Amino acid sequence: MKKKGWLTLILIGIFMLVMAGCSSNGDSKKTAGEAEGKYTPGTYEGVSTGHGGEIKATVTVSKDKIESIEISAEGETGSIGGGATDQLTEEIIATQSLAVDVVSGASESSAGIIEAVTLALEKAGADIDALKDPANKLVVKNEKQEDITVDVAVVGSGGAGLSAAVKAKEAGKSVVILEKMPIIGGNTNRATGGMNVAGTEYQKAQGIEDSKEVWYADTMKGGKNLNDPELLQTLVDNAPDALKWLNDMGADLTRVTLSGGQTNARIHTPADGSPVGPVIVDVLSKKLEELDVKILLNTKAEKLIEKDGAVVGIEAVDKNGESFKVNAKAVVLATGGFGANSKMVEEYRPDLKGFYTTNHDGATGDGIVMAQEVGADLMQIDQIQIHPTTDPKTGYLFTEGLRGDGAILVNKEAKRFTDELLTRDVVSQNILNQKDGIAYLIVNQEMADENNSLAGYIENGYATKGEDIASLAKEVGLDATTLEDTMAKYTGFVKNGKDEEFGRVHLTQTLENGPFYAIPVTPSIHHTMGGLKVDTKTHVLNKEGQPIAGLYAAGELTGGVHGGNRIGGNAVADIIVFGRIAGQTAASEIK
Ligand code: ADP
Repeated sequence: MKKKGWLTLILIGIFMLVMAGCSSNGDSKKTAGEAEGKYTPGTYEGVSTGHGGEIKATVTVSKDKIESIEISAEGETGSIGGGATDQLTEEIIATQSLAVDVVSGASESSAGIIEAVTLALEKAGADIDALKDPANKLVVKNEKQEDITVDVAVVGSGGAGLSAAVKAKEAGKSVVILEKMPIIGGNTNRATGGMNVAGTEYQKAQGIEDSKEVWYADTMKGGKNLNDPELLQTLVDNAPDALKWLNDMGADLTRVTLSGGQTNARIHTPADGSPVGPVIVDVLSKKLEELDVKILLNTKAEKLIEKDGAVVGIEAVDKNGESFKVNAKAVVLATGGFGANSKMVEEYRPDLKGFYTTNHDGATGDGIVMAQEVGADLMQIDQIQIHPTTDPKTGYLFTEGLRGDGAILVNKEAKRFTDELLTRDVVSQNILNQKDGIAYLIVNQEMADENNSLAGYIENGYATKGEDIASLAKEVGLDATTLEDTMAKYTGFVKNGKDEEFGRVHLTQTLENGPFYAIPVTPSIHHTMGGLKVDTKTHVLNKEGQPIAGLYAAGELTGGVHGGNRIGGNAVADIIVFGRIAGQTAASEIK
C-alpha cells in the first residue's frame, strides 16, 4: 500500500512535471513568439496632421523595444509643438507605451505626434491595442528635484519671464525659471497680433509717421485715462530698444499694420504674417539655451519664502508632486494673468460669470496670490478685458489684425453694426448687443493669401466658405439679399474712401472678389489688466507704497500699464519692456 502509495505519488509527480513541461512549453512558445519580437526591427515612417501641417515620425525599433523617435514638423511652432515633441517622444520611449496624454497647451500638435508614431509602429508590426493599454506601460519615476540656490529665480516662462531671465543672466547672475505647465510660453504663445512701438525705422520705411506722444495719447484714451502715467511713459520710451533686441535675436517683427484704437499703423508683426507669440517665445528660449539657463517644466511655485522682511526664495513642487526649495537673492514673478481662473474672475467681476476665456489653462493668477501673501498691494484688479472676436464654441481667438487688414463684422441680420476698428471693449459690447451676442467676420481669399493666421483659421475649420456672397449667405444661414446689399455698400465706401454708416477710417479691402469666408465670433475673457502694484523698475509695492525687498514682477500679473482697456499690440510691448527691466533691476540690486 505504502509502496503503491509512493508509486502513485511518483506517477502524480511525473504527470505534474509533464504538465509543467507542457505549460512551460506553452510559455516557451510565447517566449519563442517573443523571440520573434514585438516589432520587426528597422526604421519606419508615419505621417499625420498637427496644428500647423504635416507631422512626420521616424521610429526605429529593435525586436522588443522602441529605440528612437524623430519628429519633423515644420508647421508646428518651436515653443508649442517643439515642447510637446520632446516630452512625448521621451515619454513614449521611457514607458514603451502609446498610452500617453496629450501635452496641455499643445493638444493638436500632441495628437498629431502620437498618431504619426502610431502609424510608424503599425508598419513595424506592433500590437497597437497592447501599446495603448495603460496596464502595459512601464512605470518611470522622475528624479526628485533637489533644493536649488540661485541669484535670480523667475516664475513663469511667458514673454515677461523669458525676457527677465535673459537680462539677469546677461548681467552675470545665475538664473532658474520655474514653469508649472508642461510647455513654455503661457499666454504669450497665444499672442497673435504683434508688438506696438512708435517711431521705428520699419514705420519710416513704410512711410508711416508716428511718435511716442501719439502712442501714449492713444493708449491713455483707449485705457479711459486710468493708465498709470509713469508706467505708460516707461513702456513708450523703452519699446524701441525692446523691439530692436528681439529683432537682433531673429524675431523679424518688421511688418507694420494697424490695429483697433490706434491713430497710426504701429503694430509690428512677423514679416510673414505669422502669429507673434510663438516667434517671440522661440527666439527667447533659444537665447536662454545659449546662455545655459535652466527651465524647470511641470514645476509650480507655491509660496514665497520671506526672511527679515525680504523675499529670499520660493517653495515649489516638482513634477513628481514633491516639494523643494529655491533659495534666491531675488524673485521675479512673471506668472501672467488670471483669465483662466473663473473663480477669481467672478470674485472681482461678478458680471463676467460664465464667459469663455481665450487664456491657456495656467493663467490662474498664482503670482498675484503669492505676492499678496507677503503684503503686496493690488491695482485696478477688476479691469478685465474681453476680446471681441473669439470662437463661440471654444473661446479660440481670431486676431484683431484681421479687422485692421480689412475684415468687417455683420450680425445675424447680415448687417454691419459698428466701426470694426473701435477699441476692444466697445466692439465687444457692440457684438453683445446683437442677436445671440454673435457676429460674423467677413473676409475673402485675397486676404487669406496675405495673412497666415487667417489661412490657418480657414484650414482649421473655423470659417464657412462661399464662392460668392449669395452662396456664403446660404451656407451661414443669413439673408442673401441683405448680405449682398451690405457688401456692395461697404465696397462703395472703400472705393470712395468714406464709411458713411459707421465712420470707419481705415478702409483697405474692397472685399468685392470671392471666394468669401464668414467666421462666427463672440467676446471672451482675454486680458486681466489689473494686478500687482509695481513701480517703473518693477519693484512689487506693499500697501504703504514701499518696495518689498527681493520681489519683482513683470507682465500680465501687474496692473496699471493698460488702464481700463488694453489696446491690441500693447501687451507684447508690455511683457518685453518690463520683463527686461525686471531682469536688469533684480540683477543690479543683488548685494
Ligand atoms: P506674460 O504675458 O505676462 O509673460 P504668460 O501667460 O505668457 O504671461 O506666461 C506666464 C507663465 O507663468 C505661464 O506659462 C504660466 O503657466 C506660468 N505660471 C503661472 N503660475 C505659475 C506658478 N505658480 N509656477 C510656475 N509657473 C507659473
